[in-house]
Amino acid sequence: MRTAKLVGPETIEILEVDEPMLVAGSVIVEVARCGIGGPDIEAYLSGEVPAQAWFGHEWVGTVVSVGDDVKGHFVGEHVVGSAPAPCGACDPCAAGHSGHCELVLSMIVGTDDLASDHGAFSERIRVDARRIRRVPEGVDESDAALTEPAAVAAHAVVRAGQQLGDLVVIIGGGTIGLLTLQLAVLAGASRVTIVDPDERRRELACDIGAFAAFPDEAGIQVWLDGNGHGLGADVVYDCSGHSESLNRALSIVRRGGTIVAVGVSSRSSELTARRLIANEVTLKASLGYTVADCNRVLDLMAEDRLRVGELYDADPIGLDDLSDELARMGQRLVGRGKTLVGPNL
Ligand SMILES: [Zn+2]
Repeated sequence: MRTAKLVGPETIEILEVDEPMLVAGSVIVEVARCGIGGPDIEAYLSGEVPAQAWFGHEWVGTVVSVGDDVKGHFVGEHVVGSAPAPCGACDPCAAGHSGHCELVLSMIVGTDDLASDHGAFSERIRVDARRIRRVPEGVDESDAALTEPAAVAAHAVVRAGQQLGDLVVIIGGGTIGLLTLQLAVLAGASRVTIVDPDERRRELACDIGAFAAFPDEAGIQVWLDGNGHGLGADVVYDCSGHSESLNRALSIVRRGGTIVAVGVSSRSSELTARRLIANEVTLKASLGYTVADCNRVLDLMAEDRLRVGELYDADPIGLDDLSDELARMGQRLVGRGKTLVGPNL
């Protein structure tokens, strides 16, 4: 079968490899769609991944074989990659911190024992059966490919501890930002506004629930003066992944407000404790997602309350076009929305 493997900075190879081997506790999934996410682009540019299975981790597919000891899953089942329930046995779990279970973290980054030695830019993958979730009846297969980024966004909103009627600002209108926007509204925010330099993203954000959208902080400052009781935002989600965006968040959050860091920047930031303390701002980091986050977003998709159809390009690409697409995305020369890969196209 064919797989795309990252072999160095800005270099992938499409290889013919052996079929993944079914072992106890695993299932084999034929990949229908795999989204290209920000981490995939970063991995492509740097040539580095935490595990090969991480390169292509936003997938949906069909179970084609099931390990003898696996209960509750069947051939033909439509599934997505999720997080497992906490293991109950690792050190954090044993100490009562199951929200930071080591097994959960290893499975969502693909470093667990049963993960394939390649990601889901492949015709088929092996996964630990504990981390798959069935796609609910009525959810479009391509929509379901956005379960992973939606779960990341849901985790951030849960971490924020948003209150009813909060005024929310999202920095960054990429896939995670647009999903966080919708989930912040569902979590009871009054007005959610977004900051993004790209006009198309701002239009789309307003289409799916943003109260207003601005190209930069200057615009949002003026807006907040008139709409935030003159105080600033209650919650700011940094979904941009730029090294300077936490400082930008500090300039628009109200005294006593909350900043949630969702986007990951590998560059250092000049964030100073003085500014955090002077404004008694709570800074929260949001890492990955839990099985509960996955269930939340799958249920919301099934109820048509989370709109993901506008967030990806309707035309998937095949493996042969992946290298060019990554190069384009690496230079930010992308067209609209997330690109989905159909490895079996
Ligand atoms: Zn654990």
